[in-house]
Amino acid sequence: MSLIKGETGDWEMVIGLEVHAQVSSQSKLFSGASTAFGSEPNTQVSLVDAAFPGMLPVINKLCVEQAVKTGLGLEAEINLVSIFDRKNYFYADLPAGYQISQYTRPVVGKGRLVLDMPDGSSREIGITRLHLEQDAGKSLHDQHPTQTYIDLNRSGIALMEIVSEPDIRSSEEAAAYVKKLRSILRYLGTCDGNMEEGSMRCDCNVSVRKPGGPLGTRCEIKNVNSMRFVMQAIDYEARRQIEVIEEGGTIKQETRLFDSGRGITRPMRSKEEAHDYRYFPDPDLLPLELDGAWVQQLRSAMPELPDAKKARFVSQYALSPYDAGVLVDELASANYFETVAKGRDAKLACNWVMGDLFGALNKLGVDIANSPVKAESLGELISLISDNTISGRIAKDVFAAMLDTGKNAGAIVEEQGLRQVTDTGAIEQAIDAILAKEGEKIAEYRSGKDKLFGFFVGQVMKATQGKANPALVNDLLKKKLAG
Ligand code: ADP
Ligand code: MG
Repeated sequence: MSLIKGETGDWEMVIGLEVHAQVSSQSKLFSGASTAFGSEPNTQVSLVDAAFPGMLPVINKLCVEQAVKTGLGLEAEINLVSIFDRKNYFYADLPAGYQISQYTRPVVGKGRLVLDMPDGSSREIGITRLHLEQDAGKSLHDQHPTQTYIDLNRSGIALMEIVSEPDIRSSEEAAAYVKKLRSILRYLGTCDGNMEEGSMRCDCNVSVRKPGGPLGTRCEIKNVNSMRFVMQAIDYEARRQIEVIEEGGTIKQETRLFDSGRGITRPMRSKEEAHDYRYFPDPDLLPLELDGAWVQQLRSAMPELPDAKKARFVSQYALSPYDAGVLVDELASANYFETVAKGRDAKLACNWVMGDLFGALNKLGVDIANSPVKAESLGELISLISDNTISGRIAKDVFAAMLDTGKNAGAIVEEQGLRQVTDTGAIEQAIDAILAKEGEKIAEYRSGKDKLFGFFVGQVMKATQGKANPALVNDLLKKKLAG
């Protein structure tokens, strides 16, 4: 638990997150209009999305399937009967004057999500619910000096609102929560998790209390759109609340905005109550009834998810929980690693993937799916190290050449003549040549300056262009220097 020091002692943060995740689907929740990102404004708007009088919504089965899969991924209760409600409010980019959402009976109930903390520990956070709802359109304030434009392309796109229990206790945990949730959504293919394009947005509910005391009044920070901003917004907000309380004030429940330019939160509106929205069941839509057998089918077709994969990587490959956690974060990295490790030294494979490969990809700014070195190819390099064809040191050069040329490891080793020298005769020759020149150093070594051993090894490696087998060099040198 991370506590914050105040004037009056320690304080504890209490955080609950509401994540809006855009459902991966080619068409909208209640219309056939396209959901493609980045199109010309108002080109993907059906009469339903524009709320023309008399238009009727028709539920998109795929969106329901995606919500149920996500619920299963969060080990949550799936409600076989759920209800779509109208949430009424006026906004220029909401032409119907209401949003179709789920209120009293959401499609997914209580579940759980496990956080992996950077120190290797883990903690469970409760999921309160997941419901389906429509997204609103977008108001564009920067297109005209005195007017606001409305783009309805987003209007009617399916969102999953995933609500957590107030179980989160620090901004690091909040970031770990968003990261894990995104990972699960991507494994399932139910949301692309792209925060820059707005397909995942996060409302952060924050309150503070004395450790173990009753819950404080919360403020909700709307629409935070990156992991870094989630942390900044929460830390700022908790500090602000502590200062208000310690100066004798009280926290008003309100909705706030995060100003990422200044790193602060500021008030947007006082918190509305549920009854302000006049929720009622949408008379245009029947209750959503799911077939239990269909849910069962989805359950049995679930892929291996990050937590299970992590546990398997730890037991099957003897990786540390930390390494396994990094590898399973993205499915593409996990698959890449397994291809490299297949039939090989898993620890060595892990070091190469997480060290050299991730480092190189970072530098190049490409993701693992577009890696210039394919998994089979890196695997081959590792085999060459394991069977002593090349040393670990030479392997670094071979890897650099693989990145540059796209050639495979074996070809580079042969072309550049990088095979490790394991012929004792050749190594002895190199050692003799060096010892013949270094009489003084030999005497120093023999009189007790042990550290010089490294110098001799270095000279031999240099003379053999790094190709001599290091273990053999060590053995032979020891013998010769002793004699
Ligand atoms: P609303 O529908 O008004 O947003 P909810 O009761 O659904 O309110 O809660 C929304 C979020 O606020 C949830 O993620 C919940 O965990 C969180 N939350 C509730 N009480 C607190 C609190 N005292 N401090 C921090 N977060 C809270
Ligand atoms: Mg809310």
